[in-house]
Amino acid sequence: MSRPQQITVLGATGSIGLSTLDVIARHPERYQVFALSGFTRLSELLALCVRHTPRFAVVPEAAAARTLQDDLRAAGLSTRVLVGEQGLCQVAADPEVDAVMAAIVGAAGLRPTLAAVEAGKKILLANKEALVMSGALFMQAVRKSGSVLLPIDSEHNAIFQCMPNDFARGLGAVGVRRILLTASGGPFRQTPIAELAHVTPDQACAHPNWSMGRKISVDSASMMNKGLELIEACWLFDAKPSQVEVVIHPQSVIHSLVDYIDGSVLAQLGNPDMRTPIANALAWPERIDSGVAPLDLFAIARLDFQAPDEERFPCLRLARQAAEAGNSAPAMLNAANEVAVAAFLDGRVRYPEIASIIEEVLNLEPVVAVNDLEAVFTADAKARVLAEQWLSRHGQ
Ligand code: NDP
Ligand code: MG
Repeated sequence: MSRPQQITVLGATGSIGLSTLDVIARHPERYQVFALSGFTRLSELLALCVRHTPRFAVVPEAAAARTLQDDLRAAGLSTRVLVGEQGLCQVAADPEVDAVMAAIVGAAGLRPTLAAVEAGKKILLANKEALVMSGALFMQAVRKSGSVLLPIDSEHNAIFQCMPNDFARGLGAVGVRRILLTASGGPFRQTPIAELAHVTPDQACAHPNWSMGRKISVDSASMMNKGLELIEACWLFDAKPSQVEVVIHPQSVIHSLVDYIDGSVLAQLGNPDMRTPIANALAWPERIDSGVAPLDLFAIARLDFQAPDEERFPCLRLARQAAEAGNSAPAMLNAANEVAVAAFLDGRVRYPEIASIIEEVLNLEPVVAVNDLEAVFTADAKARVLAEQWLSRHGQ
């Protein structure tokens, strides 16, 4: 039998990282953990190293690395600890690695994910912000290296599964008319709009169907997550923004649909558990057990659909505008959103101000072409400065 595939998990201490390790641990004959990274939850990272015995662990700075290295030695492990973005890029691109789970949240994941792409790895892409920021450059790098890009986002994994068979061989989305991107509508789908000024971070993070990290939970509440996913879908499936329709489906059972020109609409269904798309991408084109319970349609009983309301979800409108504008607009949208969401989670701004901050940033900064990664990071940095200026002007 061939050797187990070597997997690097970037963002191992997070929600997607832990689900990935759960699936990997079910198949020790197929997968071995090569490297794990953490950022703040370093005692959890130590426990994961003890459980999965990776060759490398990556932490953000030198003092944390020394502590973790000592603890690993005391536990009898030979795991080597690396530091910072350079360490992340090293374990993403190591010649021994077969696949990289990109599950760092936000712009911080872009360089390590691109390092994996440039090294021609199989990429399991959860870190949607990386693709949103750098779309054209990212996809160019995928084509150049021949890297296999598999979506982990449940909607995009669903769309991928519903695409024509030849799509994965690079033959395009032949016969596809539209992509129907489903959204649960989050915890505030029915909250009176006037009450949204008073919702708390914990309420925003209490998603009705999915258990996720705090940043993506707030994005789901504001539907910025769906906006980022719209941009993500355009890059992954070579679609125009006008071909992607957002459909609110509160049960989160249909994970998205593909509408073909002959009137056929294909959907992927499943329980809302990220281990399904993770197992699908890890094993693709084969299928493996993910640990997810079979879908019980009788218990679900009904599936509902409704159109999103842009007055309730202004972030969705802003994201669609950024998708249409292209160039530096999605990187600015993403960066302004990261600053605004962090400020909301810190109790510095109210929930409706997330959209106000992003809208101001997009109105102030002209859209420019992005021909290299430096231009992407320049747009990202400018948007962060403008968002911080909004915060200081409002006494935050
Ligand atoms: P979490 O917040 O749970 O995990 C984020 C991970 O990234 C953690 O390992 C964290 O380390 C690490 N991290 C945070 N900041 C940095 C940084 N600056 N540098 C390096 N590492 C960092 O997020 P999720 O797992 O929920 O989401 C991860 C990504 O997957 C996001 O892009 C999200 O949009 C996407 N995604 C998530 C889904 C979900 O169901 N959770 C569904 C679809 C997509 P530590 O915890 O040690 O601080
Ligand atoms: Mg999603």
